[in-house]
Amino acid sequence: MIPYDQLFENSRRWAAERTALDPDFFEKLAAEHDPEYLYIGCSDSRVPANEIMGVGPGDVFVHRNIGNVVANTDLNVGAVIEYGIVNLNVQHIIVCGHYECGGVRAAMQPRDLGILNPWLRNIRDVYRLHEAELEAIPDEARRYDRLVELNVVEQCLNVIKTAAVQRAYLHRGAPIVHGWVFDLRRGQLRDLHIDFVARLRDIQKLYNLMDAPPTS
Ligand code: ZN
Repeated sequence: MIPYDQLFENSRRWAAERTALDPDFFEKLAAEHDPEYLYIGCSDSRVPANEIMGVGPGDVFVHRNIGNVVANTDLNVGAVIEYGIVNLNVQHIIVCGHYECGGVRAAMQPRDLGILNPWLRNIRDVYRLHEAELEAIPDEARRYDRLVELNVVEQCLNVIKTAAVQRAYLHRGAPIVHGWVFDLRRGQLRDLHIDFVARLRDIQKLYNLMDAPPTS
């Protein structure tokens, strides 16, 4: 375990190293916020967004919660998506799940988990949607991995269902939505290669919000 006081010492060292490499680093950092990417991932401490992508401060706008869920009624993620698109002009939105996800594992257990129940229901609903495919996988570990992947796909669809994404894509051809999985066991980042344009077209049969009035 890292002692609490060590964190500030670490931070001072990190800032000094950054400044040694580029004396204007923090001046430039403070001058603008213009990330190209919005990353929606899991809160799991083993999946740090910037590090797994090898990018620094200022490169990625980040939202994290248990199980990288994009819930329709979650004002938090909704505001992040809206702000990322409208104010930061992000070009890509990434939903990143990971194997060995505690949230997904908990959702696979049909038990009462108290306050976590309404949150995990988002992932339990993904299981229900794909029950036939998942139940056909005899190996439990493999079924767990597959639910991680399917949860990423469904959360990508939830991003695509938003008016903010549909409107921005109509007007400027971006953002593009991507689904990723981080394989903790190998340190590998996988692109699930979601066909954004095809998915958008499918979604719009039921959720076409392009004609919605623009928000301020
Ligand atoms: Zn997780």
